[in-house]
Amino acid sequence: MQQMDVSARALRHNISVLRGVLTPATRLAAVVKANAYGHGLSEVVQVVSELVDWLAVHTPEEAAAIRALGVAKPILVMGFAMPEQLRLLDDGCHLVVSSVEVVTWLGELRQERGVAIPVHLKVETGTNRQGVRSENIPELCTAVQRAGLQVAGVAMHFANIEDTLEHDFAREQLERFRGAIEVTERALGHRPPWIHSACSAAALLFRDADFTLARVGISLYGHWPSRETRLSWMLEHGTEALELEPVLTWRTVVGQVKRVPAGETVGYGRSWRALRDTVLAVLPVGYADGYPRALGNRARVLVQGVPAPVVGRVCMNIMMVDVTDIPGVRVGDPVVLLGREGAEAVTAEELASLSGTINYEILARLSPAVPRRVVEGTRSRP
Ligand SMILES: *Cc1c(COP(=O)(O)O)cnc(C)c1O
Repeated sequence: MQQMDVSARALRHNISVLRGVLTPATRLAAVVKANAYGHGLSEVVQVVSELVDWLAVHTPEEAAAIRALGVAKPILVMGFAMPEQLRLLDDGCHLVVSSVEVVTWLGELRQERGVAIPVHLKVETGTNRQGVRSENIPELCTAVQRAGLQVAGVAMHFANIEDTLEHDFAREQLERFRGAIEVTERALGHRPPWIHSACSAAALLFRDADFTLARVGISLYGHWPSRETRLSWMLEHGTEALELEPVLTWRTVVGQVKRVPAGETVGYGRSWRALRDTVLAVLPVGYADGYPRALGNRARVLVQGVPAPVVGRVCMNIMMVDVTDIPGVRVGDPVVLLGREGAEAVTAEELASLSGTINYEILARLSPAVPRRVVEGTRSRP
């Protein structure tokens, strides 16, 4: 038994915080790729779609899933897609492109089905991921026009804005981006309406990156992109930290309570030994659910709002925690794996640092098979 609660109040709060920092005219795209960073696509979309201007995803399949919810918002599809995927798009979907091949496929789609997908040129400014180099922009613009399509936007993505307090490279990327916008403008004879570069870190730190649209993911869900981003914010704004509110609470229940005599070991590999007579709670959650195996013998969960250490290895569907110091734990008692309970919280950042990754990965890998539900606040129980 597991449950993920998505707080509507926290989502609304984070959106209003982000709107508060962005230039007022800049539109806000909620990035809901990867099952809305593990929060649940339909749960998040049903709360945020009326509060943001765009939804942004990686694949046409994700765009189609949003349409299936009855949501008519403009959708920005940011990833590479093959022709059979492109057929899933309607003309309220814009596609980020960086190659002539994809533009050709969109042209064929327009011929076959009469669906003209507006394109946004992803330009290379130093990340060397997707992106067209400045010198190739004119030919890409020509290909778009030949295909009978519109260049509706120009986009870039930062390489290291989350990783450092030194934002020289981000500024350099912005400078190159401005150059690429001019090249595009000359090639088309006009400036496309949608110019975007900002992810969460840029939205929080960089007014120069606002342009006409910001694509915000991690901070929508109540997380700082990194410690460095938070520190940069504080260096700029004083100790007054901006309060983002984590949206997700992951709960389970105690599946068994058992006594383990001192000297016995717990779990696969016998990696934990009881140094005292121990009371163990066995939880029906494991790495198949997205709880990283690397957290064995490292992390803690909250039982009755009290931290209980994870002992032994995390199994595929089961894990064990030490509740010796928490009296009266019973089968069926609620457990918080990730989130707040009373004064205590287990954060995605804590689990990330204990397992050698980033908060993004902890969230994005939460299994879509775990039931999600929207709750108003963060307090509700399974
Ligand atoms: C995922 C993604 C974002 C959102 O980044 P966050 O750091 O989560 O805000 C923005 N732009 C692109 C192109 C992305 O792939």
